Amino acid sequence: MKKSKTAPFLGAIKLNWCDSCNLPILDKKTCGLCGEQVRKVKIAPPGDVRPAFNKDIKRIAVIIDGKFGIGSAEALGLVKDRIILLNEASYDDLLDEIIIDGLVVGALRYNLFLEDWDFAPRMIGAKRIFENTKNKKKSLTVDKGAVPYITNGYNVLAPGVIKIDETLRKGEVAVALSPEGEVLSIGNMRINAKNLKDIKKGVVLKPKHSLKKFDLNLDYTQKTTQPSWKEAVEANRKIIEAYETRAITAINKTRVNHIDLPVSVSFSGGKDSLVCLQLARKTPNLDFKVIFVNTSLEFNETIDYIEELISNLNLRDNYCRMDISEDKFWTSAENFGPPGKDYRYCCKILKIGPINDLIEECLGEKTLSIIGQRGYESIARFESKTLWSNPWIPNQVNFTPIQKWTALHVWMYIFKEKLEYNPLYEEGFSRIGCWLCPASNQATFEIIKKMKPVLWKKWLDFLEKWQEENSLPKEWLTWGLWRWKRLPKKIKDLAVEVGVSLDYEKREEKTIGDWNLNFRLFEGFTTCQTGEVILEGTFNSPLNLQRLLQFWQIFVETDYDEELGILRGIDAKGTTISISADGAITAKGKNPGIVNKLLKKLVLEVFRSEECTGCETCLVHCSSEVISIQPTTNQTEIEISLCTQCRECHNRCPVIKFGHREIDELFSKENNS
Ligand code: SF4
Ligand code: SF4
Repeated sequence: MKKSKTAPFLGAIKLNWCDSCNLPILDKKTCGLCGEQVRKVKIAPPGDVRPAFNKDIKRIAVIIDGKFGIGSAEALGLVKDRIILLNEASYDDLLDEIIIDGLVVGALRYNLFLEDWDFAPRMIGAKRIFENTKNKKKSLTVDKGAVPYITNGYNVLAPGVIKIDETLRKGEVAVALSPEGEVLSIGNMRINAKNLKDIKKGVVLKPKHSLKKFDLNLDYTQKTTQPSWKEAVEANRKIIEAYETRAITAINKTRVNHIDLPVSVSFSGGKDSLVCLQLARKTPNLDFKVIFVNTSLEFNETIDYIEELISNLNLRDNYCRMDISEDKFWTSAENFGPPGKDYRYCCKILKIGPINDLIEECLGEKTLSIIGQRGYESIARFESKTLWSNPWIPNQVNFTPIQKWTALHVWMYIFKEKLEYNPLYEEGFSRIGCWLCPASNQATFEIIKKMKPVLWKKWLDFLEKWQEENSLPKEWLTWGLWRWKRLPKKIKDLAVEVGVSLDYEKREEKTIGDWNLNFRLFEGFTTCQTGEVILEGTFNSPLNLQRLLQFWQIFVETDYDEELGILRGIDAKGTTISISADGAITAKGKNPGIVNKLLKKLVLEVFRSEECTGCETCLVHCSSEVISIQPTTNQTEIEISLCTQCRECHNRCPVIKFGHREIDELFSKENNS
């Protein structure tokens, strides 16, 4: 399979179908029940297919009936208790291909532009709906003369349309029918249907699918055999058992290779970690702890589910949980703004620091952790090894035994083992995590809005305040553009297409946030009489130099004159930096590169000193254990006489790493003159 930017290759598509039993078959060429040959199901990559639960079916049916008319979902085969699969594919937001009877009948997607759900049927789906019901919603009918052209995939032009659903909007999916009601093509509307009467020519509908490419021998009608998931498990039992055996062997082998490390299972309440937990339980003679960090942004359902599961599995004595105070997130959000997919300081604050502590408390110095990570989830995970270490969590060696499993392997295993899974999966969530996670799509937030109005209101209030204070466009909120610091191209293109002002992206990052502290670097170097170069800048507000002293001392020798309100620093190469309490800062030295580099680091230390959120990330990484949090201020203090100047605390601090990226830009720009 070719690699492509929009549809990443994350492994072979493993979904097949047995038409005799009407069942999904994983990996194998023959059905585990009847022994018949199976066929490949043509789905969009990466092919991480999951079951549609009854609530999913109901939710999708409401959308489809709302769009095409009552009875459409049933005609499609979207019926409770059937084996229906959802395949998430690459799109601006959520897009799930819907697989019924082993055929992709259409795609449910969340349309950012329309700020609503939309269902785009494929030819099979449209035929099931329009040729089995009297529904005509979201369709247009072309005259007899246009039929051969539309059948062949040509654009539907205004003069050829004899009837149209006037509610159709530009960009919406519509179905072109012959005068006899036969489905000819499906595509996107190029105009608002109500304007058709005013135009004499031009494109009305641009087809994506047409009869031209439709296999006329294909039996697209609903299958009479409708087996249950129990039968699906039976048909796949051997393959799932083989996956289990391989995973347990791999756990065993890894454990032997790390015999000195205590073993843990990182449990999140999600399906993948549930499978890992079960695999660990089934690994002979494996002693392990279950570790869970409650970020304070978990759904209550997840917490309750985990607690119940731990009790039901008799794992209470092996269970280590850490609860993070909710304030930690909100204080950081006040400082850094909403987290983004490309700006996930929240993970550092709510997960990484705490997990280091939890491991230390529960398992000692280091652990071998079994983690439910799969290659089909993302490019990064596909490229990840099965054994790896996260530089942010030095005391954890991670191992995933399910790297090659698709979501359907995971679900089949859960069904086979009759494991209790998180009830949120039945509420329309395909992933479990923090409820305001910026990695979620807008479609998921739509579900959360309805399901948890009070919780959502709290986040909405925060976003609205931030939006107002920073004069951000409406779509920053309604399209969920807050989920990125820098928009990805496809979202940017979409926004530009409809005229959303993205000027805010061009502003210097520091002005996006309402941080009290700003830094301005004066243009270029100047040279003094001694031949040394000088670089200067200023902060916009007075500084606490007494506090800053300790932070600068991890880089330079210092001299603090309290009376004059001046802090001076000098490095081993004689580069000097001085800062006054009013925020003016000057760096001087022989080498412009060194001056630039040192000034940048010390400027960042000013931000760290002033904006420390008490997240404790630096505590974890200080091997000398000389950093503590002062209870009165909830900020760090360094016992500097014992500091080894390793600077790990500087490298790891989220204030530096995520809070002030504008400083990188500022110093790289100025480093030229
Ligand atoms: S992490 Fe390193 S530089 Fe920072 S306080 Fe600890 S010993 Fe000093
Ligand atoms: S200095 Fe330490 S505690 Fe403060 S924000 Fe940075 S990493 Fe967190």
